[in-house]
Amino acid sequence: MSDIQTISGHRGLLLEEPLIFEQSSPGRDGIDLPEAPPLDLDRLGGLARKAPIGLPDLSEPQMVRHYTRLSQKNYGIDSGFYPLGSCTMKHNPRLSEKVARLPGLADLHPFQPQSTIQGALEVIDLLAFWLKGLTGMPAVAMSPAAGAHGEWCGLMAIRAYHEDHGQGHRRRVLVPESAHGTNPASAAMCGFTVDPVPANALGRVDVEAFKAKLGDDVACIMVTNPNTCGLFETEILEIAKATHEAGAFFYCDGANYNAIVGRVKISDLGIDCMHINLHKTFSTPHGGGGPGSGPTVLSDKLAPYAPLPFVVHGQNGLKLIEHAEEVEGARPFGRVKGFHGQFGVFIRALAYILSMGGDGMRQASTDAVLNANYLLARLKDVLTASFDGPCMHECLFDDRFLKDTGVSTLDFAKMLIDEGFHPMTMYFPLVVHGALLMEPTESETKETLDGFIRVVLGLAAKAKDGQVEDFKAAPRLTPRRRLDETLAARTPVLRWKPGANSAS
Ligand SMILES: *Cc1c(COP(=O)(O)O)cnc(C)c1O
Repeated sequence: MSDIQTISGHRGLLLEEPLIFEQSSPGRDGIDLPEAPPLDLDRLGGLARKAPIGLPDLSEPQMVRHYTRLSQKNYGIDSGFYPLGSCTMKHNPRLSEKVARLPGLADLHPFQPQSTIQGALEVIDLLAFWLKGLTGMPAVAMSPAAGAHGEWCGLMAIRAYHEDHGQGHRRRVLVPESAHGTNPASAAMCGFTVDPVPANALGRVDVEAFKAKLGDDVACIMVTNPNTCGLFETEILEIAKATHEAGAFFYCDGANYNAIVGRVKISDLGIDCMHINLHKTFSTPHGGGGPGSGPTVLSDKLAPYAPLPFVVHGQNGLKLIEHAEEVEGARPFGRVKGFHGQFGVFIRALAYILSMGGDGMRQASTDAVLNANYLLARLKDVLTASFDGPCMHECLFDDRFLKDTGVSTLDFAKMLIDEGFHPMTMYFPLVVHGALLMEPTESETKETLDGFIRVVLGLAAKAKDGQVEDFKAAPRLTPRRRLDETLAARTPVLRWKPGANSAS
């Protein structure tokens, strides 16, 4: 089927279309406006455009079809199963979307006077209240715009604390080898040096190796819990104790909070600081390119260093603090973002939290862990599970089951696309070979999981049966086949130029 050539180049109703610029026909347009009155170009101070802007000339139906088709090419959580490990692609309830579109919220402008946005400040304040309540932490910085941004914010607060206490020489950060790439990147951006900590045979932090690395130049450790192997760091209390005894802080990467929300209080684990990916744990997954939001909870010691702006309860209602002098004891390290944070994500997260309730969120994390363990139990006799025992909200396999088949993790993932599934996370975490990390989330039905399991087991059988050519040729049913991703990353063509051929 894949080799059928059509006259049009289309494949069924999957249309092969040129770029929107290539469809342009000079003088064509979709609207009929009266002639504009002449402009007084002198008022533009010599900045008037000298040539036409170069937008494509299209009819309205051409444009509507173009964007509708593009939207249909975008695979997202609303189109099908999306078992991307680490990134928690869970369902985004329509109720939260509806709330976010309420005109009183959607039409706000960030420059409005504070007296007119009391409701918006209350959204921020109430969400902060819930995040503090769920984690047991006393403070939260709301403005970071993603998980990585939250890491950077937390590390900046830690750095400011150390500098304030004559400990500015503490510049080393201990990061387990299984960490997400953003952890070392954030530490480096803060001017820290990164010192990797090995994992043990159980997929967890090697506590002895970790302790040996502690010293009076260590600013903090960054530990993900549950970690990126989908495992709870069982020695977390000991890790926290040793860290504090060494005068360092405990930064927790909270991207996997979905596994423990409503069940574990972060404050009980000795954590000083943790970002929460609202766009993972509290719906609104970012796989479609949407915005993120990474509020960062802080201990009492770090709270004074939280960035501006933040909301306080004032005499005349809620107040957004924009300057450190307005609050006694505040020592913000600076700002991390224009305006107030990712307000649209705040609304959705708050709507999600309030509609789920504390019991609902506890149920969600329980079901997320149950679903991942179901996948693990059904797959582990055929795929090779990297570590023994049950997992948390995601399960990790490596490529030992593909040994001598000629099929790689990449080939396996590409075959899954032909089967109608978005692949799992591949080649991450780095602590196992050819990783396949699957996170089903709580929002999938057993039927969906069973369908996925049937395909994964079927593909494993095909690989072992020597059908390696099929794997190497995959994907065969997509609009584009296997791309040269290295070339695309090294020499990206990001701009269409008149007369240039389309990239395809
Ligand atoms: C997603 C993720 C991050 C980074 O979060 P972003 O919101 O994508 O910046 C950090 N650590 C882990 C473990 C993650 O899964």
